[in-house]
Amino acid sequence: MAKKKENSTLYCSFCGRSDREVELMLPGMNGCICNECAERAVELSHEYLHQMAKAKLTDLDMDTLPKPEEIKAYLDQYVIGQETAKRYLSVAVYNHYKRLNQSHDDDIDIEKSNIIIVGPTGTGKTLLAKTIARMLKVPFAIVDATVLTEAGYVGEDIESLLTRLLAACDYNVEETERGIVFIDEIDKIARKGDNPSITRDVSGEGVQQGLLKLLEGSVVNVPPQGGRKHPEQKMIAVDTKNILFICGGAFEGIERKIAQRLNTQVVGFGVESHVSKSDRDKLLHFVAPQDLRSYGLIPEIIGRLPILTNLEPLDRDALMRILTEPKNAIVRQYKKLLEMDGVELVIDDDVLGYIVDKSIEYKLGARGLRSLFETIMIDVMYMAPGMTEKRFVLTREFAQQQLEKSNFDILGKSL
Ligand code: ADP
Repeated sequence: MAKKKENSTLYCSFCGRSDREVELMLPGMNGCICNECAERAVELSHEYLHQMAKAKLTDLDMDTLPKPEEIKAYLDQYVIGQETAKRYLSVAVYNHYKRLNQSHDDDIDIEKSNIIIVGPTGTGKTLLAKTIARMLKVPFAIVDATVLTEAGYVGEDIESLLTRLLAACDYNVEETERGIVFIDEIDKIARKGDNPSITRDVSGEGVQQGLLKLLEGSVVNVPPQGGRKHPEQKMIAVDTKNILFICGGAFEGIERKIAQRLNTQVVGFGVESHVSKSDRDKLLHFVAPQDLRSYGLIPEIIGRLPILTNLEPLDRDALMRILTEPKNAIVRQYKKLLEMDGVELVIDDDVLGYIVDKSIEYKLGARGLRSLFETIMIDVMYMAPGMTEKRFVLTREFAQQQLEKSNFDILGKSL
């Protein structure tokens, strides 16, 4: 790097000014750059990258875009089960591309079909969203609806849901306007209670009205830095007409609404008390827009989320598969981690079943698999770099000992 010699003058290789004329001169291998030229260079490179991204986006060539089957095949590599939701998502994304490509020389205007996915927590909603994001040809952002309604806090303005999407495409408005937003925990903005006239939750409904504006398609002013913490920030106008919204929520207890509805329609007396847990799980299959309404979403919102699909609760078999099958399955990850220390990890046949059973026992579902595995492996991971034995066999006894030692019994129950 060029060093400034005593009393020598440095000149910017771009504008020719000397170090006395500028605030900062950055020396490089064969020349220098002043702070002003450096700033300009950053601006120009941003502009260039924007143009490149835009050129890429306007060129959504239907022939080369992945088809629904290909999108689903990609999801299959990471997400176990959830066949219906995967199909719906694949078609929705593909139709989104089609919409963006539609010519306007006839009268047929393909409307967008926002999606709502209902599924118990920990069954793969976020995983689906993150996985699909990796293969999309349009910008994508995951946002959480809880920020809009946090207790004891006024909450964020609804427009800030788009801040992430803007940031995801480097504040390029045109790109943002073609993007996809996944709104997680949509159930948290549902109005509490069935009867709007008695238990009207005004603030909840206000948030829903705001969201409706986004879903319907309108020009909204988005705070580029999000929230209300920067009142001085200049808003960016974004048209949401072409933005696809995918909403997800656990809608805890919605099975009861479904049961009530099916019950009143089909048999007419209380089945609910004799509905077993597995029957309850199956009830989710029958989720319909009316149930979302009884849960507390306003009809206008439901109308703007025309595709309603559900995620299945994960049974023992699915949890077993989650441990080993996905491309980045937990077992594969641990094998790789040990391999990097030169140790081969061998897992006895009955260990995985044991871990899955513990996860079910503690009601931790798929999310618990990782923490269980982590707890079991922590000592091995600690010792691995110095181990002389280059092969470690994970037995059920060892797994059991590790869990008992870590008090997972107590921890697991309190999770
Ligand atoms: P949620 O439905 O609450 O958004 P997540 O998608 O965050 O649940 O799932 C939590 C974790 O559980 C994921 O990171 C993943 O490791 C695992 N998981 C959940 N469902 C599946 C699934 N269907 N296939 C593979 N892994 C899953």
